[in-house]
Amino acid sequence: MNLKLRLRTVQRSSACYGKTKFEFKNFGYFMKYHFPFFLGTALCFSFTPLHAELLMNGVAVSTTTTTSSSQNNYSSHSNFQSCLANLRSQAISSGVSGAIYDRYTQNLVPDYSVIEKLNYQPEFSTPIWDYLSGLVDQERVQAGQQKLNQHRAVLNRVEQSYGVPAETVVAVWGVESNYGDISGKYPLLQALGTLSCEGRRQSYFRSEFFATMRILQRGDLTQDQLHGSWAGAFGHTQFMPSTYERLAVDFDGDGRRDLVSSTADALASTANFLKRAGWQTGMPWGFEVKIPQGMSISSESRRNKKSLNHWIAQGVTRANGTALIQGNLSGSTPAGLIAPAGANGPIFLVFKNFDAIYGYNAAESYALAIAHLSDRLNGGLPFVSAWPTDDAGTSRAERREIQQFLIKRGYDIGVVDGLIGDKSRRAIQQEQNRLGLSPTGRAGQKILAAFRQESAKQMMR
Ligand code: CA
Repeated sequence: MNLKLRLRTVQRSSACYGKTKFEFKNFGYFMKYHFPFFLGTALCFSFTPLHAELLMNGVAVSTTTTTSSSQNNYSSHSNFQSCLANLRSQAISSGVSGAIYDRYTQNLVPDYSVIEKLNYQPEFSTPIWDYLSGLVDQERVQAGQQKLNQHRAVLNRVEQSYGVPAETVVAVWGVESNYGDISGKYPLLQALGTLSCEGRRQSYFRSEFFATMRILQRGDLTQDQLHGSWAGAFGHTQFMPSTYERLAVDFDGDGRRDLVSSTADALASTANFLKRAGWQTGMPWGFEVKIPQGMSISSESRRNKKSLNHWIAQGVTRANGTALIQGNLSGSTPAGLIAPAGANGPIFLVFKNFDAIYGYNAAESYALAIAHLSDRLNGGLPFVSAWPTDDAGTSRAERREIQQFLIKRGYDIGVVDGLIGDKSRRAIQQEQNRLGLSPTGRAGQKILAAFRQESAKQMMR
């Protein structure tokens, strides 16, 4: 099979602050910036060559891409301070007091590493099966089931209050921060202050910078608590500061909206986000389907919804063979058909709730990861159809194993963390060349099998 199969249908040229995305080489690509590599939150752009649009927590902004990742020419520290001084009146008109602004900018120094992240362009493409196999693996399903049990009482209350199932809320938590394990180390004021004065999208980052100060001003969170992704998403479910202002709720009743230290507040705020994004209680996000041979799907999309009766008439069935219409669905329920890897991979009918998840982070791959993880947490099975590849993706445990092999082979790839960044991918590419495999740089099953085989041979000697 063609490993470089292009994925046309999953994503449009939008992007997002926040999540793991995968890329489409030649169709523009998505980048994930979350900790340098693959998990957590970040800024995700899709690039048409010169133009990118980004969308974070439902807010769209567009930008023109003019810089390259090799840009090093930052202005001096004194320029940074004068930039901050120039922003003062703007901050005040947005509701930040002069005293607060002065207090939090007085000793602020820039961190230009965030500009490198902003300008980062991935060297390698990531097909959707790699994206999903790292985000929805056994480890994350098991950890999520534990969290469901551990927080059962609060999740029941969240479900009653917002009408969003516990499994969906926990799936967002799992994908956004690995259930609170990885929520970001960048001091928000420093990161957003730097992004307000350098690089692309300054006006967007300025409003987030001011929002951060208003959060501090109200006293909901302290400066020490406000660490997050390089792009400013923070807390258990990685809200941007402006999203926090709009949608965060105090659910544990202590009078503070705390998405950093209060799991209850974070889970309820996430449910509130989804509810406000149009979640329909009691309805599914969608499900995998089978389509008749030869059915044309080129004009189908998430947005182009048609009634379930239409799909039944077309001969579409659930992938598990059961009837399309079940539960609260009816013949007139609108559903869009998506085929993230084309007609030869898994295909899905998606409803309004899929759009609500998409609102959290504007990428269909992301929404599918959340949706699928929520199903798995609910006892659901892996997709019925295989992805169109002969080199399937790996779990994070398998990725750690690949990284251990690479370290044994003498590569400097940093820590073994299951997150495959550019260093790991360059090393994998070299090893694929040595072993006579296609040099994709992917941490797939083939390179893992080759490493295991080689290691077993060495043990025999
Ligand atoms: Ca609270």
